[in-house]
Amino acid sequence: MTISKQSARNTRTMTATLMLSVIVAGCGSADQSSNATTTSTTSTDITNAQLSDKSVSCTDYAGALTATATDVQNRNSFAAATTITANGNSCTIASNAVPNHDFNATGRFATQFRPQSQSYTVPANPTLATGPTALSLQYDNAVFLNGVKLDLLAAGCFGVGNGAIGCHNMNSPYRYDPMGGSNKFGADEHNAHTQPDGTYHYHGNPLALFAQANPTTSSPVVGFAADGFPIFGSYISDEGTIRKAKSSYQLKSGSRNGGPGGSYDGTFIDDWVYVAGSGDLDACNGMEQNGSYGYVVTDTYPHVLGCFTGTPDASFRKGR
Ligand SMILES: [Zn+2]
Repeated sequence: MTISKQSARNTRTMTATLMLSVIVAGCGSADQSSNATTTSTTSTDITNAQLSDKSVSCTDYAGALTATATDVQNRNSFAAATTITANGNSCTIASNAVPNHDFNATGRFATQFRPQSQSYTVPANPTLATGPTALSLQYDNAVFLNGVKLDLLAAGCFGVGNGAIGCHNMNSPYRYDPMGGSNKFGADEHNAHTQPDGTYHYHGNPLALFAQANPTTSSPVVGFAADGFPIFGSYISDEGTIRKAKSSYQLKSGSRNGGPGGSYDGTFIDDWVYVAGSGDLDACNGMEQNGSYGYVVTDTYPHVLGCFTGTPDASFRKGR
């Protein structure tokens, strides 16, 4: 795993570990041996580190990562621990859900942050499904390389209860976008907040993970979606020009017909409509870069991904 902050010594150790895992996995080994392939004696401290690797193969990120992070408003510090294991045909990303950066300086979290024990498995060689799979409240969307998950959809809709929780019917209109202008979800300076059990998760751009301003190269891989396709940061190479990718979702014109009324301003995910060809990305917010498909973080809806192009792995199902 290439991380700008890590020492040369760690780089050698991690590379050696990775090569070992590839060799053993290439032997068609059984589970019991492949489990041992990426046991690392060295962990890499990624506190505040920006990612830089562009490999689309999750196996290239195998390793043990640590960090320290402070819940700023509550003045509590936590030790982050993430382990990425290559299992041959899949990778497991397990973590305690503590980010690799301080958080909650500006958030208004309904529940205090709490570390968790979470583990996600993604296919190492994802394939396109016959059609896209819609996001749902039943699945986490993705996990980033710092071990924090993406869970884009709010469980709050206009006119359902207090609007913040309880909207479990995906057909309900006017579902709030926590990244929308006037929302009541209290995201912090990293576009993240907590769930009722204290789980920290992003709703948009995981800002600390890649260079946000005028990078000289396209953005790195920052995580993997539940279907195994990589998620890239915002900047793409447009025939050599480095610029942000544009979502192909546009705000509807005019005013909402019923419901909360008012103009379509992005408060609700229903305010957006996919207009093929209007941006760089497909309906799932993905594109091919250097011959490989992946999702791209965008400044506007759907922020990271709008649907699954592949098949989400069952390990992302909530309440397992
Ligand atoms: Zn949330």
